Amino acid sequence: MKNTFGYLQDTYQSGILIAALIFLGVLLFRLWYVNKEIQSRSWIWKSNSPILVWILKLGWLVTMLFFLLDIPTWFLSVASFKPLVQPILYNVFLIILISIAIMEICLSITVTQSLNQQFVKRIVFLLMVVFCLLSFGLAALIFKGTFNYPTPQDCTVIQMPVKGKWLALHAGEKPWVNYHANYPVQKYSIDMVRVNDNLAFFEGLGEKNTDFFCFQDSIFSPVSGTIFKVVNNIPNQEIIDGPDTVITAGNYITIQTANDKFVLLAHLSKGNFAIKEGDTVNVGTYLAKLGNSGNSTFPHLHIRMQNKPVYNDSTALGLPFLFQQINRNRFGFWSGTGTPYLNRNDIFQHE
Ligand SMILES: [Zn+2]
Repeated sequence: MKNTFGYLQDTYQSGILIAALIFLGVLLFRLWYVNKEIQSRSWIWKSNSPILVWILKLGWLVTMLFFLLDIPTWFLSVASFKPLVQPILYNVFLIILISIAIMEICLSITVTQSLNQQFVKRIVFLLMVVFCLLSFGLAALIFKGTFNYPTPQDCTVIQMPVKGKWLALHAGEKPWVNYHANYPVQKYSIDMVRVNDNLAFFEGLGEKNTDFFCFQDSIFSPVSGTIFKVVNNIPNQEIIDGPDTVITAGNYITIQTANDKFVLLAHLSKGNFAIKEGDTVNVGTYLAKLGNSGNSTFPHLHIRMQNKPVYNDSTALGLPFLFQQINRNRFGFWSGTGTPYLNRNDIFQHE
C-alpha cells in the first residue's frame, strides 16, 4: 500500500506513454504504406469497385466517425485516472488518435486496386470493419448518457461548501462517471479534491494526509437549515492503513434544509466542529475541517443530498443538486460564473 499514488501515477503515465508510442507507430506505418502504393489508389467513384467494397468503405467511414466521438469522450470525461496523468501526455495521445481517425476517414473514400482484385484482402477488411464497427458503435451507445443531468428545475441549488479551485473526481448521473450512481441513496453524490495551479491534487507521493491540498480545508454550510446529525470522534486514518469500510461516512454532518432534503458532508476531520446537533445554520456558516475518515482512500469531500435523514438508509434516494456561483472548467473551457452541473473531471472555482 505504501506510496500508492506515486506508484499509480508512474503506472498510468508509463502506460499512456507506451500506448502513445504504439499508436504513433501505427500512424507512421500507415502513412508510409499509403504513400508506397499511392499509384494504385484512386477515388472510390472512379475505381469501378464492386458493391461489397463500397459497403465496406462506408462501414469503415462510420466506424471512424464513432471512433472520433468515443475517444475524446472517454479520455476527457470518462477516464477516472485523468487527474493522475500529466495533461501534456494525454493531449498528445488524444491528438495521435484523432489524427489516425481523420486519416482513415480520408482513406475511406479512396480504394486500392488490390482491394478490388484480391478476395483475401476483402475478407480481412470485412472482419476488421465488423469488429471495429461493433466495438466503437457499442461504446458510443454507452457513452451517449455521459453528460446527462436532470434539468435545473429538477435540481436544488446550494452553495459550494469549499473555497478555491477544486476537481470533481466522481460526479454526474451515470455510473461510468460516478460510481455512487450504483447505489440509489448515493446517486448524484460528488467526491471532490482541491487542486493547485498545475491541477495536481497532492504533492510528493501522496502517502500522507498532509500531501493532499484539501486536508484540513474549511467546510461551510451549503444550505440554511438545522444540524440533524453530527459524528466527530473518529481519528483521521493514515492513507497506508486504507479506508474504514464499517463507518463509511467517517466524521460527518447532516443538515436538514427541507422536510425531505438532507445534505450530507462526509470524511471530515475529528473534533473542533463549530456546530452541534440541533443548531440552526445559514448558507456559508463555518462547520468543520476536511479530513480522511470513513470509506476514504485519501482526503476528499463527499457531498450529497438525499430525501431521508439517515445517511446509509438504503430506502433513501439521492437527489440532484447544483452549486450557485461557481465557474466550471470542462475540456479547458470556463463556463463563467453560474450554476453549471458537475461531471467527472470538471474543475471548478468558488470564491
Ligand atoms: Zn464519495
